[in-house]
Amino acid sequence: MQRKGAWNIAGLTGPPGSGLSLMDPALSDPIATPRNDVYVFGIPFWNPTLAEFLEWWRAALTSEERRSRCVVLANAHTLNLACEDPEYAAVLRSAEVRLNDGVGFRIASGMRSVGVKHNFNGTDLIPLLFERLDRPARVFLYGAKEEVNALTARRVAERFPAVEVVGRCSGYEHPESAVEQIRRSNADVLLVALGNPKQERFMARYRDRLNVKIQIGCGGLFDFLSGVKPRAPLPIRRRGLEWAFRLMIEPRRMWRRYVVGNPVFLARAWLSRKSDLALAGIQPERRRLSPPVL
Ligand code: UDP
Repeated sequence: MQRKGAWNIAGLTGPPGSGLSLMDPALSDPIATPRNDVYVFGIPFWNPTLAEFLEWWRAALTSEERRSRCVVLANAHTLNLACEDPEYAAVLRSAEVRLNDGVGFRIASGMRSVGVKHNFNGTDLIPLLFERLDRPARVFLYGAKEEVNALTARRVAERFPAVEVVGRCSGYEHPESAVEQIRRSNADVLLVALGNPKQERFMARYRDRLNVKIQIGCGGLFDFLSGVKPRAPLPIRRRGLEWAFRLMIEPRRMWRRYVVGNPVFLARAWLSRKSDLALAGIQPERRRLSPPVL
């Protein structure tokens, strides 16, 4: 039996508000069948366990098809941007897989009575995907400054024997040049580390020309993987406070994103919870809405 909110592939329609049309690549894709488990700001998200996502990842990677399937990891900042820019929200909706990243999303999801099953933070997720590869994967690294990108390529090759870095390109080169290099590399996996909203826009705009199996937007991942920026200590990460650490390290760049953005996100998440529940087909008055847990 199909779960509530699941894609209706046979009927060629997505759930209300999913933004799916007959032209959406996800519709004819046998692998891209994630459920719409929770809506935030009208955007549907899958809420898989790690094992469920790994199953999707393996299927997409072993498939012969090169559909450049997009994986979006959305945090409070991503969703604030989507709230302010409907075109960016449409870009996020066009991805095959949208996953939750961070404590802000967890709180918003709790307001919709959905507990997130796993935190899909790119800086933890990508190394985990690489460690668990059961066959070699050809990977292209796109993003960050040239020296950071080069250092990341070396670190990845040292740390993950199953990963073959088949190409790399700084995030400050012209996108057309990046697209050409990616095409020529014949990579299976493309990591796009340009930050929000640039990376998702790039993934959506050039997907038909990229010729990879999977592309994942992963923000500042290369800054951390290369070691040029310190990662928050584990106890801080476990408490969902990595954002506070990043604010401390880079206050000038991050204050607007976090000091202004976090309360704005929580207010928006609370105000939009009823319309999001309605999109999920749940009667708001029948559900006990959890107040925000701060
Ligand atoms: N970046 C890039 N090209 C650009 C803008 C940014 O390659 O035109 C890189 C930047 O060097 C950094 C990453 O994108 O490595 C963005 O990092 P940020 O910390 O903003 O991302 P987050 O992890 O917060 O999503």
